[in-house]
Amino acid sequence: MSNPSLLILPGDGIGPEVMTQVKRIIDWYGEKRDLAFDVSEDLVGGAAYDKHGVPLSDETMAKAQEVDAVLLGAVGGPAYDDLDFSVKPERGLLRLRKEMDLFANLRPAQCFDALADFSSLKKELVAGLDIMIVRELTSGIYFGEPRGIHIEDNMRIGVNTQRYTEAEIERGARAAFELAMKRDKKLCSMEKANVMESGILWRDVVTEVHADYPEVELSHMYADNGAMQLVRAPKQFDVIYTDNLFGDILSDCAAMLTGSLGMLPSASLGLPMANGRPKAMYEPVHGSAPDITGQGKANPIACILSFAMALRYSFDEGAEADRLEAAIEKVLADGARTGDLMGPEGGTPLSTVEMGDVILAALDASL
Ligand code: NAD
Repeated sequence: MSNPSLLILPGDGIGPEVMTQVKRIIDWYGEKRDLAFDVSEDLVGGAAYDKHGVPLSDETMAKAQEVDAVLLGAVGGPAYDDLDFSVKPERGLLRLRKEMDLFANLRPAQCFDALADFSSLKKELVAGLDIMIVRELTSGIYFGEPRGIHIEDNMRIGVNTQRYTEAEIERGARAAFELAMKRDKKLCSMEKANVMESGILWRDVVTEVHADYPEVELSHMYADNGAMQLVRAPKQFDVIYTDNLFGDILSDCAAMLTGSLGMLPSASLGLPMANGRPKAMYEPVHGSAPDITGQGKANPIACILSFAMALRYSFDEGAEADRLEAAIEKVLADGARTGDLMGPEGGTPLSTVEMGDVILAALDASL
């Protein structure tokens, strides 16, 4: 059987720096765990614009459609800020998400004990936190028509439309229930059924899908209450399923419970391919961090945890994902910190490469 295939798109800024550490980890799995990947690499974002005049070439798009998973670093940077909207680096990312139809965005909010002090909440509220937000990514108010700004009675009117089909709600719900089945079997669906018809439909469809997952405990919550509960008592949640707009806000809110941007991975999943694997792209939540680019300061953990998600969700290697996450937990508990994780007590931060070194050593020690 051939090896699973991975397309690596390091992108811009610190993207290539953090991805270099991920490539070392991928090599480690090939050498030490007999888990080899066919890895190809290509350009996205500003790097693709510099070479091809577009932030994602048709050839790269075609490759992304063929591989088992895409791993992306970050895109953007000041050099590209003044480009026309149609060729901005972010358009490359949006094209990937749209053409691969990646409708389920998975954003874990997991608090490593060693970093509980970084949260803006009290340590006891977040220590051991492990929640997963599933955000519908390809529909809702960011895409609904009509939209625009027009004039009525000499007044400018801004319009956006929240629109969901039951099929769109259902496929995301199935992804969320499947995840809940692999976790603590608790799913909380969030909408505004009290004031929005799309919310009423959302609640109905999620309830209907629940019939196929009777083992999962389903609850419903208005999204504004959800935001409140996330900061009041976040550990009450396991999996949260919500729409594109609420998910955008709630996932950022949940992410910050855990501290640094340099620690946050994400996955975007689509429909299963012929081999049964979902279309998938994995990427850290952070951007290209132009303020620290080229200085060896970037924290590679968000990107490495994104690869751990690929192991779990694309390659059915949950035990190896656990191994990688445990290695990261271990180095943090031992005090390894990049600059973004330095507390008031100070100390000498590790470089990007040094953080890669200690994680690889912890992986070796796990054998
Ligand atoms: P950013 O995430 O790049 O940086 C915000 C702050 O967090 C900066 O101070 C940065 O140094 C720090 N930071 C981020 N990642 C870090 C890491 N791994 N280790 C240590 N520190 C880290 O967000 P921004 O500054 O608003 O945006 C910079 C560029 O990135 C812009 O061009 C923006 O459009 C783009 N961007 C891209 C993505 C993406 O590719 N998915 C996401 C957000 C922003």
